[in-house]
Order: sequence, then structure tokens, then C-alpha cells
Amino acid sequence: MEELLSKFVMESTNKPRLLTKYVDDLLAVVKTEEVENMLKNLNSYNKSIKFTIELEKDGKIPFLDTLVIRKNNKLLIDCISSNTKLYLKWTSRSAWQAVTPLHNITHISPLLVGVLHEIIHHTATPASNASRRHSNKTCWSSLIQRTHQEMRGRDDIGYNFLIGDKQAEICEGCDFNVIGAYAFSYNVRSLSIALIGDWTFILPSRPVFNKWQQLIMYGINMGHIQRNYILLGHRQVKAADCPGTRLYNELKGWPHYDY
Ligand SMILES: [Zn+2]
Repeated sequence: MEELLSKFVMESTNKPRLLTKYVDDLLAVVKTEEVENMLKNLNSYNKSIKFTIELEKDGKIPFLDTLVIRKNNKLLIDCISSNTKLYLKWTSRSAWQAVTPLHNITHISPLLVGVLHEIIHHTATPASNASRRHSNKTCWSSLIQRTHQEMRGRDDIGYNFLIGDKQAEICEGCDFNVIGAYAFSYNVRSLSIALIGDWTFILPSRPVFNKWQQLIMYGINMGHIQRNYILLGHRQVKAADCPGTRLYNELKGWPHYDY
């Protein structure tokens, strides 16, 4: 990656004003008309490395767990404060290359504002690969969306969020505002979060649990989840093995768990 970036910088005729990297996330300051070019060049070096792009919105863009703000031609960094946790970086649908939901946009049912239930799933994908992309080109979220749409007849990926792609990355599913699938009568009043992997015999890593807690805190602070939310494993609302026996037993010791 370092080699690729130095080559890119050396060969660029219009060099970015800023280019910084954390693991495989880049933050760049470039002229609007140069954005497409930059993406094309970055993707021309190595067939197995594919960059996607997220543009600033109203002068703001999340980067890692911070919000980068462009103001009077200066960049300000706003960090997550442990009290508010108002910004949480997750991998957007466009970044994991989600396909468009099959439903007509007017058929999207909004999730209740401030849900009471949070339902935990596992994706039953191999745990050994849970912390990595299963290939260089596709991430688990994309494969799961395809399975939900093509094999289970869903409109879209059934989870509101997924955690565990790459390292402990949070991936946007159908987000806080759309009803997920799989929990029947609970769907309208619950948030479905899937921890990527098969947690029948082992537990997800500590960073995955940390991200999950950050997501809940964020959801509470933004008014999407009620403060006194009830935590449930998928098997409590449907006859299923989900979220895996080992993880389910762990949930029983967590605050907010209800049986
Ligand atoms: Zn489930």
C-alpha cells in the first residue's frame, strides 16, 4: 500500500493537497474536478486493490472515529467524545458496493423512531475469516446482501448494521431508518445487528464488541434507540440457532439482556 501511494504521489500531475492513510482508509484533499482522475489512477496500479470513494457532505466527512470539517480552507478534526460519541465512522453502502434494494423507494417502511429492542444475529459465515474480507474484491456484507436477495427473496440485506468486516469494521446495512427482516413482529420496533462470523463455539473479538457498544451509544445519542433498550438474541424471537450458542450465552450476562 505504501509503495502504491508513493508511486501515485510521484506520478500525479495534480498532487493532492493532503493525503493521509490509516490501515487502508485514505483521507485526501483534492480539487473537485480531480476526484474521478485520482480514483482512476489509484485503481490502475493493482488489480486486486480496489478503492471506493466517499465525498464530503456540507464540508464534513467522517474519517476513522472522527469527523473532519472543512472551514475557511482549514481542516478541523472533531473527535468522538466519550460522553457524546456523536460521530461514528462506518463503511457506507456505497463503500461496500451494495446493490440497490429491490423494493420501490416508496415501499420502504420507516423504522419506529427510538426502537426498544436490539436483536443480535450472527451471519454463520466462517469464523476463521470473520475478521477479514473473504476476497480482495468483495466484503462479507456484499455477499450477504446477495444471499438475502437471491436466495431468501428479500428486498435488501436484512440487517440494519453488520460488524466485523475487515477488522472490527461497522458496515451500514439498511441503516437506522428502514425496517430490517428476520424478526417478524419485532421488525418494526427493533434494530437488527449482525456480528459477522459463526459464533456457535467461539466469541467475536473484543474490538467487535467495542464497536457494537459504540454503535449502540451512537444510536441512543442520536435518538434511534431507547435508553432502556432490551437486548435479545435472534433465537428468542424466532426458532433459529442465531446468534450462535457461545455468543448467546455471553449475551445473557450483558446489561439490557432480557429473557
Ligand atoms: Zn439471526
